[in-house]
Amino acid sequence: MTRLTRADLDALPAYVPGRNVADVARELGLAEAIKLASNEVPFGPLPGVPEAVATAVTQSHRYPDMGVVQLRDRLASRYGVTGDRVVTGCGSVALAEILAKATCLPGDEIVYSWRSFEAYPIIAAGIGATSVKVPNTAGHSHDLTAMADAITDRTRLVIVCNPNNPTGTSVRKAELDRFLDTVPSDVLVVLDEAYREFVTDDQVPDGLATYGDRPNVVVLRTMSKAWGLAGLRMGFLVAQPEVAGAIRKVLTPFSTSLVAQAAALAALDAEAEVTRRCAIIINERERVTEALRKLLPDVPTSQANFVWLPLGDRAAEFGAACEKRGVIVRPFAGDGVRVTIGTPEENDAFLAAAESAL
Ligand code: PMP
Repeated sequence: MTRLTRADLDALPAYVPGRNVADVARELGLAEAIKLASNEVPFGPLPGVPEAVATAVTQSHRYPDMGVVQLRDRLASRYGVTGDRVVTGCGSVALAEILAKATCLPGDEIVYSWRSFEAYPIIAAGIGATSVKVPNTAGHSHDLTAMADAITDRTRLVIVCNPNNPTGTSVRKAELDRFLDTVPSDVLVVLDEAYREFVTDDQVPDGLATYGDRPNVVVLRTMSKAWGLAGLRMGFLVAQPEVAGAIRKVLTPFSTSLVAQAAALAALDAEAEVTRRCAIIINERERVTEALRKLLPDVPTSQANFVWLPLGDRAAEFGAACEKRGVIVRPFAGDGVRVTIGTPEENDAFLAAAESAL
């Protein structure tokens, strides 16, 4: 057959979303299944969000504000920066893609830790950049020294995922300070902080507060997790104004939808509820970690809303065993299993499944 798409994409692994709850429940003949596979927060949309969405929808025959002015200003004042430094997008994953597009030409290098967020290799390959994957430490964390050593004169972008998806591990201020000091000034460092709201270790820096003023640092945040907008797609980044301006030039026009803008504004009004919900998740994370360590002692400490089970070759089998009991987790074959922290009842169901599987 005549080839119509790039041959190099054949070898690229596809992004694997967590399995659909309805499909799994139907297959198993259960009334419902529990999804702990996509790192969502389980408590429903924040108060005010459904109403804001319903109102916004009445104007959905119109394009949204392409400049996203109201929301950008709101985010800017919430995070203590100027509005010209904020760029919003269709989820932070889209912004990661745009960042790669704004920095790399084909053959340029993107350095990141591995295993980390599965979208990174896909993003790099999509623009013809070369992925330089630096293996995690034995403790499943970023090896920042090795990452610094991996930077060459082809490197345009370095991604630090803190806390790291899927291992939950995080890098602390002293090592990140040292790392950022060694990165050449013409290499952009992305601090992907999708899980920042769940961090309790005071040695793990808030990238925006701590490094936001560095010229070559971009901080990436999402409203999909703690802010409960995963289904509406809203992420944002904060960069220096010149960097933000260049990124905006390659943004897909109108990619922060009318509904997403309205929902994000409503969510920002409900921050007290976000804090309350995160506290429940954090408590549950500690409880689940402690229970799991009785079954599997080397579960790493997580600063995110999920935990990592370093099961190696047993990962796929463990995932299948949980699914048989109606609990959908996210196995990474040959490596480990990521389990999102759910409600206390959901976590109990997972722990029971884990106990029988292990
Ligand atoms: N970064 C990391 C580390 C993530 O885990 C995710 C979500 N899985 C994202 C970015 C993207 O989130 P979204 O596109 O929903 O904003």
